[in-house]
Amino acid sequence: GDALLCYCRPGFEPELAAELNERAAHAGHPGYARTERNSGFVEFLGADAGALSQALPFQSLIFARQKLTRIAELRDLDPKDRITPILRALETTLGNAHTFGELWVEHPDSDEAKPLAGLARAFGNALRPVLRKNGWLKQFDDSRRARLHVVFLAGDHVLLAVGEAGDSAPWPLGIPRLRMHADAPSRSALKLEEALMVLMTEKERERLFREGMRGADLGAAPGGWTWVMVRQGLKMISVDNGPLREHLLESGRVEHLREDGFHWQPRAPLDWMVCDMVEQPRRVAERMGTWFREGWCRHAIFNLKLPMKKRWDETRLCLSLFEEGAGKPLLVRARQLYHDREEITVFATPPSTAR
Ligand code: SAM
Repeated sequence: GDALLCYCRPGFEPELAAELNERAAHAGHPGYARTERNSGFVEFLGADAGALSQALPFQSLIFARQKLTRIAELRDLDPKDRITPILRALETTLGNAHTFGELWVEHPDSDEAKPLAGLARAFGNALRPVLRKNGWLKQFDDSRRARLHVVFLAGDHVLLAVGEAGDSAPWPLGIPRLRMHADAPSRSALKLEEALMVLMTEKERERLFREGMRGADLGAAPGGWTWVMVRQGLKMISVDNGPLREHLLESGRVEHLREDGFHWQPRAPLDWMVCDMVEQPRRVAERMGTWFREGWCRHAIFNLKLPMKKRWDETRLCLSLFEEGAGKPLLVRARQLYHDREEITVFATPPSTAR
């Protein structure tokens, strides 16, 4: 039967499984998660996958990089003809009246599955024309329609899955490919760039970043996040005892304060606050709540480091500490980004932003 199929960072399967278990039960679609440590994916079975998928929008999932509906599992495939069993499985599960907008042949982002990348690419090139000929795939890629995913777990073992256009990651493997800019002061810049792409829509980015807005960066050194915000048009106050890269200061848009990010507060309300301080997540979450309660910023993006064991429990606890501390309704989105290691990134904004 159908199952939910979600990708995650290898090693974080227990967190994703716990998240799906809890949220599915809460949504009235209880089932069970099945996964293997370091496999890079979790399947959720026993519930109506379509209804569950609707109840858990991709945007709302924290530890999932991708959300798909698994429609078939094919084992013991003959390497000489993997295509016929795939066509047969499509007919059995979907009937004939289905035309996908794209075909993505993928593999989980695990050490075990990464060597399958070459096979996936070659197989995609072989399968694509056959699907087009048989009416399963549009003649030209159409990203507004549902996608067919063929997921290689081994050379003879694939999952067939469907990704809904507006309710899944628009990147193969759920990984946005970002290249580090030569001027970026640190690799951390990629984290914030990814956060802007993943946690906000294009419309929201246009509305929430305007030339001349003002922001603060807590734990700013050496300045990657400040650099990203400056490139969005902001003037930044960067708080850190450590040094910032010289070229940032020369931009004339950055004021560096050597202060404690847990005590410093702005004199006048700011548009934005970002925070990448390495500290206990509960302490960060509480401080972020204070910023919203006091009205020191309208929007924020902050990281919560999760080096401990029960990372799903800690995530929930920290997010509720934050929201209680803020003391007003907020739109909160959180995700373990591709560039996040043992941490998650949180975006918070007034609820009106979503309109
Ligand atoms: N986001 C930065 C970038 O893109 O370059 C990297 C930040 S680094 C991961 C964490 C920073 O937090 C360190 O520079 C550290 O000095 C700073 N930090 C930790 N605790 C702090 C505190 N209490 N007040 C201010 N900065 C703090």
